[in-house]
Amino acid sequence: MGYWLLVIVWKSGIGICDLLSRRGLHLSTVRVRLGPSPTGYLHVGTARIALYNWLYAKQKDGTFILRIEDTDFARSSKDMTEKVLVGLEWLGLKWGEGPYYQSQRLELYSEYKEKLIQTDTTYYCYCSPEELASRKAATLRQKKPWKYDRKCLRLSADEREALDSKGVPKALRFRVAEGRTSFEDGVHGHLEKDNSDIEDFILVRSDGVPTYNFAVVIDDHDMGITHVIRGVDHLSNTFKQVLIFDALSLSRPLFYHQPLILAEDKSKLSKRHGAVSVMELKEAGYLPEALINFLALLGWSPGTGEEIFSTDDLIREFSFDRVIKRGAVFDREKLEWMNGQYINRMEPDELFDAALPFLKSGGLVDDRMAAEKREWIVKVLNLLKERARTLRDFVTLGQYFFADQFSYDEKGVKKHFSDADVGERLKSLRNAFSSASSYSKEDVETLLRGLAEKLGVKAARLIHPARMAVTGLQVGPGLFEIMELLGKERVVDRLDRAVEFIHNL
Ligand code: GLU
Repeated sequence: MGYWLLVIVWKSGIGICDLLSRRGLHLSTVRVRLGPSPTGYLHVGTARIALYNWLYAKQKDGTFILRIEDTDFARSSKDMTEKVLVGLEWLGLKWGEGPYYQSQRLELYSEYKEKLIQTDTTYYCYCSPEELASRKAATLRQKKPWKYDRKCLRLSADEREALDSKGVPKALRFRVAEGRTSFEDGVHGHLEKDNSDIEDFILVRSDGVPTYNFAVVIDDHDMGITHVIRGVDHLSNTFKQVLIFDALSLSRPLFYHQPLILAEDKSKLSKRHGAVSVMELKEAGYLPEALINFLALLGWSPGTGEEIFSTDDLIREFSFDRVIKRGAVFDREKLEWMNGQYINRMEPDELFDAALPFLKSGGLVDDRMAAEKREWIVKVLNLLKERARTLRDFVTLGQYFFADQFSYDEKGVKKHFSDADVGERLKSLRNAFSSASSYSKEDVETLLRGLAEKLGVKAARLIHPARMAVTGLQVGPGLFEIMELLGKERVVDRLDRAVEFIHNL
């Protein structure tokens, strides 16, 4: 039986894990992690890395771990961490383990520091930041590249002892041996560097706190991380990290470096390019599902030209061989378009719940109205949704449904309110509506078209000024639907108001 199973696997090209998982047996031990530094907001770049980790874990039945890299005590706080967590939760990227906090794991790093010292790959460095800065400046003045000059590697045991007895602060550095360092990257292939291009980097600072490169290796090992999925800006760190893994004889995880997110001017996307934090986008009226879809395609391409992917589709389709190598431009217009697609596909009640906070903060709706006129608001949103690209758009698009006092679009006034008979035409329309016994959108249309015929004008000569009269705008959804939703009384009042306005022009 075992033999035949092997033959089948070999002949069919199916991996053993695939085969077992098709039989419901999951061998997956995929463990991935997001290691955000708490900066007070969740950058879209971090969110995209979180998404790729999350998708991969879901696809492989693995575990997505959250690890807060908060060893920069001066810049980290609980509050800042909270903001990162809230952003991830809003996106629906729920972690299966954690959050772990590096600040609570200092003892573990200390243990490994001792282990590493035993391997004879480290040395203490007594150079102060000022000394280093001045030597670096001198080197750069000579147009030479700077890397740590190994001054402290050359200290004798006596010199070290003297410095220690004076209590001079010391950092622990990694001694990079001669040779070459390489690793396989799941996106970029084989990457290799001469060790002369890697400086003797710091592992533990003089205050005893480990650097990012040291802590991350210990954590990735200790947490059993199998795949490191992060931004390509960490490539040069990876060379240092593999040196530490190897020095400690720890097995390396697999590395997958993702392209950077660029602004339209091709520079790294930052705050000066507008909203870059997930929660800012939430406040601007973006939906988490749309943002997830957009971020997934920012650096990964399904290869089919398809653009709209549900989360389940993404989990199924995502693969590292379709991750692009070059930077991905954050195209806000595309994000808007995509968000509009999602808004348009929303169920009426779902849309109500999503748009309500915006209608409230825009001053269009209060709690009482939301409760009493829910059904009507649902209909209004449903009518407007085709034109909304963000939830916030409903505030501008829907203004005239909620407020009777609006101004008229200036160009519209010139175009539709200025011919000699328009006031008379609108007055006749007003009278036709006011004496109507029923007022559905079909009734409204029949009345309007009947009146146009009676007046001997094209229906458009009533429709355009009437749209201006009831909405203040030249464009919008179907006029008859708008009129039905506004109700007879409000439409009649608005026609009166327009007639008066035209009279005073
Ligand atoms: N704290 C690092 C960052 O925010 C994490 C890098 C990594 O995933 O190793 O960029």
